[in-house]
Order: sequence, then C-alpha cells, then structure tokens
Amino acid sequence: MTERAYKVYAIDNGTVIDHIPTPLALRVVKILGLGNEGILTIGMGFMSKRLPHGKDIVKIENKVLSTEETDMIALIAPEATINIIHGGKVIEKRQISLPDGIRGVMRCPNPNCATNILGAPRVFGLESRDGPLYRCRYCERTTRVEPDLLITSAGL
Ligand SMILES: [Zn+2]
Repeated sequence: MTERAYKVYAIDNGTVIDHIPTPLALRVVKILGLGNEGILTIGMGFMSKRLPHGKDIVKIENKVLSTEETDMIALIAPEATINIIHGGKVIEKRQISLPDGIRGVMRCPNPNCATNILGAPRVFGLESRDGPLYRCRYCERTTRVEPDLLITSAGL
C-alpha cells in the first residue's frame, strides 16, 4: 500500500481488503452484501507493483469479516489480501481461498435447472480449483465462476 493510500484511508478497527484488481472493488462489495453496513471506504485505481493495472482497496470499519465471508472474495479477486485491524494495528493477515461451497450468490447456467425454474436454493460445491469449477447440487452441471452468473444483494 502506498503511503498516501494508507493515510487517506486508515481505519482503527475493521477489515481491509487490499490488492483487488481495478476495477473490481464494487463487485467485491456486492458479493459480500455490504451495501448497508457500517462505514465503507472504497479506493480505486491505486498504483501497485503486484497489479500492473492498479489496485482497489475496500475498508469496512468496525466489522471483522468471517473467513467464510472473505473466502467469497476469492471467486472474484483471488489475488486480494485481507488485513484485520484492531486499535489501528494489523492483528491478522489472512489468506483467502476458494470456498468449498457457494450458497445463494451464484446462478446455475442450466436454464432447465430447478434452481432457475422452481426457485430451489442455489447451492454449488467446489469441483476443481482449476478454473475454478463448481458443481450445481441440483442438476450436477459443472461451471466456471463467471461474473454473469454471480448474483449480488444489490441485484447487479
Ligand atoms: Zn443447476
């Protein structure tokens, strides 16, 4: 993180999601369903050595995301890093990894699937970390995680 980004966006307590490739910050916020929670700071387009096209940073004040929540970020931005802040200091640097299961936030690409026709709950299990591929619990179809398939609480 650059000195400037750190100063402008410093928080005392909460969760910082760093190294999100620009411009995916809003998508990360949406998949986490954070729209209506606490103070959210979104910085976009910071210079990054690791990410040549720039990085976005999302800071969520006074809320520590669970591992289950931060792992959802891996569906969109596997490069992202998570810092948990307490008392102005980083108390945890968390690695993210693909979730074993996805509930609710992804749509099955099979138009005849019960989840699309009958409103059955959308549940996928991790099939392969390459891709990555997830398998629909209902119709067994395997799919890559595509942005078009992700459903967010904001409906975008
Ligand atoms: Zn399905």
